[in-house]
Amino acid sequence: MSQLDKAIRPKRFKVKNTEQVFLTVELPTGESAKLKVIDCSINGIRCEYDKAYSDDLLNFFNCIVSSSKLSWLNQETFLGRLAFRRISPKENLTHMVFSTIDTKVPIDGSLTKCLDLNFNDFEGASKEELSSEKFNLASFIETDYQNADLFDRMRKFDTYRKEWEKSDKYGYKTVRECSKGERVNLSRKRKGNRNDYIVMGSNDYLGLGAHPEVVHSAQVAMNLYGFGSTGSPVTTGTTDLHIKLCEKLASIHQQEAALLFNSGYAANVGIISSVTTQNDLIVADQLCHASIQDGMQMSRATSRFFKHNDVTHLESILQKERNNYNGCLVITEGVFSMDGDLAKLDEIFKVARKYNARIMVDQAHCFGVVGPNGLGICDKYNLLKDVDIIMGTFSKICGAIGGFAVGSTEVIEWIRAFGRAHVFSVSLPPSTVAAAHRAIELFISQPEISLKLKNNIKYFCKGLIDLGFKLESTHESAVVPVVIGDEKKLGQIYQSLLDDGVSCVPIVYPAVSRKNCRFRFTLMSTHTQSDLDYVISSLEKAMLKSKFDMNNVAETSKAAS
Ligand code: PMP
Repeated sequence: MSQLDKAIRPKRFKVKNTEQVFLTVELPTGESAKLKVIDCSINGIRCEYDKAYSDDLLNFFNCIVSSSKLSWLNQETFLGRLAFRRISPKENLTHMVFSTIDTKVPIDGSLTKCLDLNFNDFEGASKEELSSEKFNLASFIETDYQNADLFDRMRKFDTYRKEWEKSDKYGYKTVRECSKGERVNLSRKRKGNRNDYIVMGSNDYLGLGAHPEVVHSAQVAMNLYGFGSTGSPVTTGTTDLHIKLCEKLASIHQQEAALLFNSGYAANVGIISSVTTQNDLIVADQLCHASIQDGMQMSRATSRFFKHNDVTHLESILQKERNNYNGCLVITEGVFSMDGDLAKLDEIFKVARKYNARIMVDQAHCFGVVGPNGLGICDKYNLLKDVDIIMGTFSKICGAIGGFAVGSTEVIEWIRAFGRAHVFSVSLPPSTVAAAHRAIELFISQPEISLKLKNNIKYFCKGLIDLGFKLESTHESAVVPVVIGDEKKLGQIYQSLLDDGVSCVPIVYPAVSRKNCRFRFTLMSTHTQSDLDYVISSLEKAMLKSKFDMNNVAETSKAAS
């Protein structure tokens, strides 16, 4: 065990007799599973795979378990919610690690009688799983900093970070220098600079963030209103520009009202935590974005997750549980951020209505991209008027900042009053609001902008399919996942692409499981076909150089599988 491993891990104690200590978790499906505990620390519990429940559990890797109970001898304690953090396959069984959210594991109580508190044993038991190859950001989540300086964790993390930065996968410190749009100048930490990178990872799908009219609108507003908004939207932070943008958002979505948040993240946590409360039920797709999951954690409602895009599973949860709760909110994204696939919103909507549930759709990645009018998945299924809450962001439609909720006046006024992320945070600067408004006007009045994006998506996906990647030829979103499945090769290909002047985003564990590590390419309407040809040929070259074998890519490529 390296000094680093030792330094960052909380003390983890083995269970003396694994027939004595059990963790009962309420699965995201509503069923419960009793798992043998192998060891635990103050913040986390590692359990052994139980064949009867393994498939259900593995499906929910990264999700929240709504309630849990630790039992030993004739005692038990409720641990509340747990986060399902890790799965480590062993020879013929699997270990699963959960970390606590609401309470600590009572290591210092009567449970200690069942635990092996010999520190040497802990070292021996943990050595294998703590090899530096497997070390990653998730390792720090469980750090036990009891009886230590609060910043000890940061000091230890810094030691790790310095090693991490030397690895090929590290991409955090690629800096854009005085340039904009789809071709930029990047300063790279590891190798020499060049001036002409093609950006294949921007969220500015429509390329409107650098549009002269959008930039001009921000400049004009800044001159007229000053730099900031001066306060919360409920105090001094609402200008006539904010009101006009809300009216525009409501009208294009064919709904009554809209409300702004200062990011998409804030919108999700603000909406979800304010519209639901105790004795309500939230059922969300298991691959929903972190901001949705965080909103669910903040809410006092019970959380459940349905298997990704599995409407039958959603229905079975509602059938079994709906009647035990007051209100119910079903949540899905329109386009899923890591896989770029589309929700089966038509079917999800029908099932939600059948069980008298309200429905919220996060349109972050589909607003501006999907649907005949580019108004997202709700537009595609002609459900703009019917979906109860539509959430969107300006981080994709114009690569800027800001989030919004659209819905009926009753709902929006409720969120205005009770959405803490709205009330207790400064509002968006007038310049951002004016620029977002102009970007939306441009995208509506010039349909050729989103049409060009749609053509680029088609063209790029065809190029990838020709290289042998498994993608639908009908792929509709600007997010195009290219699964490599081997972190080392991913790092090599990433560096080779950068050397060739292609900037993209590598996604590694714990954001996705290891066998699904990938590039998340994103298309812009301002890319030219020759840009895309160049990217495809650079990728082909990088694959050859790293001896990447397409046959080793995992069959399932869903982000959290
Ligand atoms: N929802 C989804 C689906 C997202 O992917 C993101 C971030 N990319 C957000 C919400 C948060 O949006 P923002 O970055 O605008 O805060």
